[in-house]
Amino acid sequence: MYFRKTLLLFIIATCLSKVSAQSLVYLRPDRVFDGEKNLEKYGVVIKGNKIEQVDSQANIEKSLPKDAKIVDLKNCTLLPGLIEGHTHLFLHPYNEVTWDDQVLKEPRSYRTARAVIHAEKTLKAGFTTARDLGTEGAEFDDVGLKKAIDDGVIIGPRLLIATKALIATGSYGPRTFSPDIKVPQGAEEADGFDDLIKKTRNQIGKGADLIKIYADYRWGLRGEAAPTFSLDEIKLIVATAQSAGRPTVAHASTVEGMRRAILGGVETIEHGDNGTPEIWKLMAEKNVYLCATLAAGDAISQYRGWKKGVDEEPERIKKKRITFKQALEAGVKICFGGDVGVFAHGDNARELEMMVEYGMSPTEALKSATSINADAFHINKEVGRIKNGLLADILVVEGNPSQTITDIRKVKKVYKNGVLVE
Ligand SMILES: [Zn+2]
Repeated sequence: MYFRKTLLLFIIATCLSKVSAQSLVYLRPDRVFDGEKNLEKYGVVIKGNKIEQVDSQANIEKSLPKDAKIVDLKNCTLLPGLIEGHTHLFLHPYNEVTWDDQVLKEPRSYRTARAVIHAEKTLKAGFTTARDLGTEGAEFDDVGLKKAIDDGVIIGPRLLIATKALIATGSYGPRTFSPDIKVPQGAEEADGFDDLIKKTRNQIGKGADLIKIYADYRWGLRGEAAPTFSLDEIKLIVATAQSAGRPTVAHASTVEGMRRAILGGVETIEHGDNGTPEIWKLMAEKNVYLCATLAAGDAISQYRGWKKGVDEEPERIKKKRITFKQALEAGVKICFGGDVGVFAHGDNARELEMMVEYGMSPTEALKSATSINADAFHINKEVGRIKNGLLADILVVEGNPSQTITDIRKVKKVYKNGVLVE
């Protein structure tokens, strides 16, 4: 009997909370960027966790129920919650602690403590979804981090996680040790037919939403980047992941690493620094997206002593500007993703600013961070646009970032799943 009463109370409480959660919230900014274009004097109505209506303010106000909550957002732009395409929540800037030392000397509990804060900073900067491309030695700890966010234990963006990522034996790091000792690596080593299938499946079984591979890395004869997996190995990983409904993405910066990754069937190329017109053409043909991580290269060059705006641009930066422009001209679809962790979490907008600095219009850059990333990551039925029926992941900023991209940092409100975060 006691049990029944408790159950009844529970049901009533749940119903009541649903009723209040279902009340309408009408957001009235100067304009709505719907993920593709600006709509002046438009508004958005949220009901529960979904977008209920997107229309001109005049139309919305004709039929708005009296008890709807109206949120006036003068001088503001409303956008879909931004989608970070390349983050590492388990890393923090390399000028604070080197990557090697983070992987080898920081306890995983410490790295998780940092990841919790990084997730919160990411969300509060307006990034309501993030693709985390590898824990870099923190094993499967992104699985627990994602669950803690989904369960509401901590706040953070909805996550698409890669878990450990796959590397060919010997190719990755940390590596500056005696060959006599075995050093833990920043990703999982796997090679050949059986091993690759097994480790790909194991990562999926443990919670990977996608498989990330390193198609090349700095293990060349003179320390330069060189290809890792063979084309057949990449095809095998892609097929194994695909049969379980997971996409494969590749770190690649050399021509041959990129070529194998593209022909092997990966969906996004991360970095792509040394792409050539032929490679860009191939990517455009195969509909492979480029996640250029401009901000990471910029940050690393500065950590190495380059004084931006004072010194001449290093070769690496000059080359990146050229290859990125070539990719744009070839019609390669551009993902938004900065390789956050190399630089500070919460500073994700740095990549947007650099995309504009390197030749994209602010509107094109914003499309990458919303609708294009949603399409690329297969989440466009949930997020990435301001559209009826999608989840109410919404960012409101002061100003107009389609004109002045830095306005994206003037965060006024963030909603995730219809809930006001900030
Ligand atoms: Zn990365």
